[in-house]
Amino acid sequence: MPHRFDDYLRSIMPEPGEDEILRRWWNAREATLWQARYAAERSQSYRPFPVGSAVYAFKPDARPDTRWKLFRGSNIKAAKEAPKICAEMTAIMAAMQEGYTRIIGIAVVGNPQVDHGSGLQSETLHPCESCRLAFATLPVVRPDTQLILGRPTDADSFVIEEMSVEELWKIHAPRAGP
Ligand SMILES: [Zn+2]
Repeated sequence: MPHRFDDYLRSIMPEPGEDEILRRWWNAREATLWQARYAAERSQSYRPFPVGSAVYAFKPDARPDTRWKLFRGSNIKAAKEAPKICAEMTAIMAAMQEGYTRIIGIAVVGNPQVDHGSGLQSETLHPCESCRLAFATLPVVRPDTQLILGRPTDADSFVIEEMSVEELWKIHAPRAGP
């Protein structure tokens, strides 16, 4: 008889409530930010634009010690003519490859630049227009997925902005009307 560990887990570990998810994110967000900073060291960019990301992901049927897990990613664009692959996307895809079904929080570390979509110059590097669209279309990311965005100021500190994915969309939404 096959061992149905997934079924067993579901029987003893109910789905976490939204309160528990927020509490866990609150506890994990600083580590997530630091993992994003370390991930930026693996960036491959033809210009000096290293970006790192880390995501805090949830997998309901994982074993208890891996139900909540961090994944890292960095940006890849080795030549100007090469397609852009964003750090957030590589981190999210790493989580998806291991079967994680919900991204609770996303950290991004890099130096801000003018947003190509909205023209906004922000205090920290915000996920780009392509990433914002990806967030809107990928089932693992939700409007209430949390963001922690850090611009390194020195070896052990950041300027930080925090918001939800939904708030990010609003910040960068094109103005309605003429
Ligand atoms: Zn992007």
